[in-house]
Amino acid sequence: MSDLEHTPSPFVAGLPIGAELPLPPVAEWDIFPFEGDLRVRPLDRPVLPEPPRHGEDGPENCDQCNRADQEFLWTDEHWRLTGLREPSGLPAVVLLMPRGHHDLADLPAGRAAELGPMLQRVERALHALGGIARVHVDKLGDGAAHLHLWFSARPEGMLQLRGSYLSTWDDILPPIPVADWQANGRVIAAAMAAEGGTAHV
Ligand SMILES: [Zn+2]
Repeated sequence: MSDLEHTPSPFVAGLPIGAELPLPPVAEWDIFPFEGDLRVRPLDRPVLPEPPRHGEDGPENCDQCNRADQEFLWTDEHWRLTGLREPSGLPAVVLLMPRGHHDLADLPAGRAAELGPMLQRVERALHALGGIARVHVDKLGDGAAHLHLWFSARPEGMLQLRGSYLSTWDDILPPIPVADWQANGRVIAAAMAAEGGTAHV
């Protein structure tokens, strides 16, 4: 790759690298998890080329491809649903991924057609817990090349947890008890399996 291809894009060229930036208005909102004397972290210089994401070199070295179905909450022929490795602060955080080593842009047409119904299905499975006001769905993809969609359950009534800081609150809140976390996983897996596939917990 030539140096030319490592030149920052115009999107980066105009960023205030290293400058002091004011707190955004959202810092005053109820949903903002922090208070007190805060400062914005200065932006670092761009890193180009970016380091490869996990699994970028193919399925052989991909943790998700190498996991057995039994390690997931639920699987079927084309899709797998996993919980996190340990409890976190929310009632449920699960990840949906295709069985094959694809990212969103190269998802085969058949899988892409299934994705909409799968999104609905996982959201319904999290609502099966009861007491869930909203299920957030995120596709980030900065860490791993194997497509994975995050589903996070916001407890009913917790208005401060609304919006884009839900995943931050998930880190802040004390982890739920292991027994509750396991029970929630069983409810979600059973709800998924009720429409096909296999629950593994
Ligand atoms: Zn993979």
